[in-house]
Amino acid sequence: MNIQAKAQGTMARPLAGKVSLVTGSTSGIGLGIARALAEAGSTVVLNGLGVAAEIARTRDQLAAEFGVEVGYSPADMIQPGSIVEMIESTLASHGRLDVLVNNAGIQHVAPLEQFPVEKWDAILAINLSSAFHTTRAVLPAMRRNGFGRIVNIASAHGLVASPFKAAYVAAKHGIVGLTRVTALETAEAGITCNAICPGYVYTPLVEAQIDGQAKAHGISRDQVIRDVLLAQQPNKRFASVEELGALTVFLASDAAASITGVALPVDGGWTAH
Ligand code: NAD
Repeated sequence: MNIQAKAQGTMARPLAGKVSLVTGSTSGIGLGIARALAEAGSTVVLNGLGVAAEIARTRDQLAAEFGVEVGYSPADMIQPGSIVEMIESTLASHGRLDVLVNNAGIQHVAPLEQFPVEKWDAILAINLSSAFHTTRAVLPAMRRNGFGRIVNIASAHGLVASPFKAAYVAAKHGIVGLTRVTALETAEAGITCNAICPGYVYTPLVEAQIDGQAKAHGISRDQVIRDVLLAQQPNKRFASVEELGALTVFLASDAAASITGVALPVDGGWTAH
């Protein structure tokens, strides 16, 4: 292979030979990121809830479309023990884990006084603590390899607040803090850790909020999208899972070796206010 062909191959499959794990990748943003990582040539381990037959179909489709190995861990991100097991079994099966994307997340919207305690606990566990457990478990292997990319899917709500989302906003601010600490502790080890802070991205998590908000405000779905959900988002469009996938691939690439500890808004200008 001549140098130009080799360079083109490296550009087309910049993550060939790498192993990536994306939590919460049976749906939405996580699945979009897993697709982008597979397209970039990485072996991918999926994780998340869902129907076994559908998850098996997703694995087969990704493997066939991109010619990469695609695994799956059913680990529940609320259980520290099963999170550690997921990292250990990924390392045992593949011998390495280069790219960790902490994406799994849930939402609940309620005023503080009525916020169910069990929802607070679940959101903090899944949206924040799970990233601590995965990061803690994976760092020794990344340090041994002298390479690692950790991408935390935070939110614009990791940078600013909205009412009625106490647990979500607290967890997302927390994961931005965890990102910075991880970046500082790993800065000399060839490891980077960054947070992506999306505004609204059209996924099942957002879809689930539209009807509830329409009822609460007594307005149509279209009005909810433009005037409620995208009220703070100046460009008035949802970001796509493909945009987030492409950004994750970039952050995982050699070109992003000096980018660490950032919380990068992908929010159409929301946090520029
Ligand atoms: P989604 O509901 O489509 O996907 C969530 C994923 O997390 C699914 O794969 C689900 O199975 C998984 N998950 C949920 N609970 C889990 C558990 N206990 N164990 C393992 N997996 C679990 O949601 P999404 O919109 O794709 O959100 C993904 C991430 O992006 C979340 O962290 C969310 O906070 C963040 N985010 C989303 C938006 C948006 O507008 N959609 C904006 C900013 C940030």
